[in-house]
Amino acid sequence: MTTFKSPLELYKILPQTNCRQCGLPSCLAFAAEVLKGGKRLDSCPHLSPNILDIHQSDRNSPTVLEQELNDSMDILQAQVADLDFQEAAKRSGGLVHNGKLLINCLGNKFEINDRGKVSSLCHTNPWFTVPLLNYVLKGKGTPPSGEWVSFRELPGGSEWNPLYRQRCEKPLKQLADKHPELFADLIDIFSGRQPQHHFDADIGVQLLPYPKLPLLICYWQPEEDLVSKLQIFYDITAGDNLPTEFVYRLGAGLVRMLEKISQRHTL
Ligand code: SF4
Repeated sequence: MTTFKSPLELYKILPQTNCRQCGLPSCLAFAAEVLKGGKRLDSCPHLSPNILDIHQSDRNSPTVLEQELNDSMDILQAQVADLDFQEAAKRSGGLVHNGKLLINCLGNKFEINDRGKVSSLCHTNPWFTVPLLNYVLKGKGTPPSGEWVSFRELPGGSEWNPLYRQRCEKPLKQLADKHPELFADLIDIFSGRQPQHHFDADIGVQLLPYPKLPLLICYWQPEEDLVSKLQIFYDITAGDNLPTEFVYRLGAGLVRMLEKISQRHTL
């Protein structure tokens, strides 16, 4: 549901670049489709979370992308049913216990049963669990090298970069701007650590979402005329262990988890 009365009214807040990333030929066509109910406003990857918050009243219900993720879960779960857990544990850095594959994600134990059902005491969402199943099914098990690269430098990263910037780095920077304690909490809640090397950022936190997929969040605080900046780096082997599309979805899942936590607690 949106707050617009006509396609033209909605068109005014769109980027008007006709880039087609929403799957429609123009921004005006997209506006008309949203008004008809065929598309959600957040199908345009170039709208900021603030604009979505203002104009999309049902942002907490599943988005089209989340629905697609839920749908893909059935296929992944069927593939897990055929998985050799011992081999998968060796590759993914997990272990097998009582017939379940245990994977340490962000310092929390995640269990995958032989029907592909993921459970954890930690708050989770399909943006996090679908990449996890892809990690255990498709990851090559390449050990991290210690060389950091940006998301754009991963295989196929430039294609996903606009969505990645919009749904991962931008909202995470906004959270960090608003909640300066975010990084201390990342260390406490998600077993993060402060690495020695962090690209001269004011703050750097290294997280381990999956055992062989580390990421490094770097934050530069605002200074006089300069606005703050945030960038997430990945080990150069990340593309071996998770297809880049799912590295993006994992990043978006983490941001959503942090947004939920920040709503419940004062970070
Ligand atoms: S993705 Fe956004 S900017 Fe691109 S055509 Fe669709 S509505 Fe316009």
